[in-house]
Amino acid sequence: MFAFEEARQRVLEGVTPLADRESLAPWHTLGRILAEDIRAPFDIPSLPNSARDGYALRGSDLAAGGTLHLRVVAEVPAGSYYEREIGAGEAVRILTGAPLPPGADTVVMQEHVERVGDFVDVPATAVKPGDNVRPRGEDVEADAVVLEQGTLIRPQEMGLLASLGLTRVWVTRCPRVAVLSTGNEVVEPGNPRGPAQIFDSNRYSLIGLLQLLGVEAVDIGIVGDDAGALRQAFLTASERADAILTSGGVSVGTYDLVKDVLAEVGSIDFWRVKMRPGGPQAYGRIGQAYFFGLPGNPVSAMVVFLEMVQPALWRLMGRKDWEPVRFKARLRESIRKRPGLMEFQRGIVSYAEHGWEVATTGPQGSGILRSMVKGNCLILLEEQHGDYAAGEEVWVEPFAMS
Ligand code: AMP
Ligand code: MG
Repeated sequence: MFAFEEARQRVLEGVTPLADRESLAPWHTLGRILAEDIRAPFDIPSLPNSARDGYALRGSDLAAGGTLHLRVVAEVPAGSYYEREIGAGEAVRILTGAPLPPGADTVVMQEHVERVGDFVDVPATAVKPGDNVRPRGEDVEADAVVLEQGTLIRPQEMGLLASLGLTRVWVTRCPRVAVLSTGNEVVEPGNPRGPAQIFDSNRYSLIGLLQLLGVEAVDIGIVGDDAGALRQAFLTASERADAILTSGGVSVGTYDLVKDVLAEVGSIDFWRVKMRPGGPQAYGRIGQAYFFGLPGNPVSAMVVFLEMVQPALWRLMGRKDWEPVRFKARLRESIRKRPGLMEFQRGIVSYAEHGWEVATTGPQGSGILRSMVKGNCLILLEEQHGDYAAGEEVWVEPFAMS
C-alpha cells in the first residue's frame, strides 16, 4: 500500500515525455504544450505609444507651470507615425496606440485640455511628465524568453504567439489515449439492457475528461469479463494509442481479469493506494503504450483519472507546471472520517462573506455519480486526519468545468 503522494510520484516517474513534436500555426495550438522556448524577435510595443486619446508633448514644457499654450503641429492616428521631432511649445494630437513622435514623452488626456484652433491649452497640473505613455518593451522585451518549453497553450498564449508575428510553433505531438470499459454487466447506451445490466458511464466520463485535456481519445468500446477478449482488446489498444485507460476489473474478484491479462501481454505494477475512492489501481506497459487500469465504480474512475492519470498525461505531453489549482475553504458541516486513507470527497465550494466555504454533495458512495454531478470541486481530506469539525479549513480542487 502506498500513500497517495508516493503513489502519484511513482506513476509520474514511470512516464517519459513524448519526444515527437509538430509545427503548427498558432490557430491550432489551443491546449497543446510548447516544445520550444519562444524568444521575442522585437520589443512590444516596438515604440513608446499613447495609452489615451489626447495630446503628446514634451514633459519638460510642464516645468513652466500655469497653462501651456501649445501649437498643434500634426495629428497621429493609430497606425501612423510622425517622424519629425516635437519642439518646445509644440504638441501633436494623438490617438490611443499611436507611437509618440520623437521629442514627445508625455500625453495629456483630451478631456483635460481646451483646443482652440491650431493651439491647445494645457493646465500644467493636468499631467505629469511621462503620463499616459506605454513604454517601448512594456509587454515583451526583445530577445527575452517569453514562453518556455513545457508551457500549456491557453487562449492568451495563442494571442502572444501571434503578437510576436509567429506563423508556426513547435508543440508536442498530441497523444492518443485508448479507452475501454470492462464488465459483463456493462452495456452500450442504445443497446437492449438486461435486468442485471447497467449502461456504460465510465467511457463517457473518461472520454469527456480526455477531451477537456485536448488529447485524442480512441474508443475501444466495452469488453466482457473474458481473458481472450481482453487480451485482444489490450493488444489492439496498444497498437493504436500512446496510453490505454481501462475501467473495472482491477479488484480481487474472480472476474477481475484486467491485472492477469495485463501481466500476460505486458508488464504490471499493481498497488492499493491509501485513497478513497479508488484504492486499487493497476499500472503497466503494453509495448510502447502506458496502461492505466482504473477502478470500475464511476466516481472512483473519475477521481483516479483526475489525481493520477491526468498528471501522468501532462507529463507525457511535456507540460512543466501541471499542479492543480488548490485553495483552502472552510467546511460548512462536520465530516466523519477514519484515519488511514486520504479521501477525495465531492463538494460544492462557494464564496461567502468570510471567504471560501465548502459543503459536501451528500452521500459519498463511489457508485454515486451524481455526487460528481452536484459538485464543483474535490474536498481533500488528509490521510492521518480523523473526523473534521464544521468550520475547519480543508483544501479543495475545483473541477475544470464548474
Ligand atoms: P469492478 O471493479 O469491475 O468490480 O466494478 C466495480 C463497480 O463499478 C461495479 O458495480 C460495476 O458494475 C461498476 N462499473 C464497472 N464498469 C462500469 C462502467 N463502465 N460504467 C458504470 N459502472 C461500471
Ligand atoms: Mg467488473
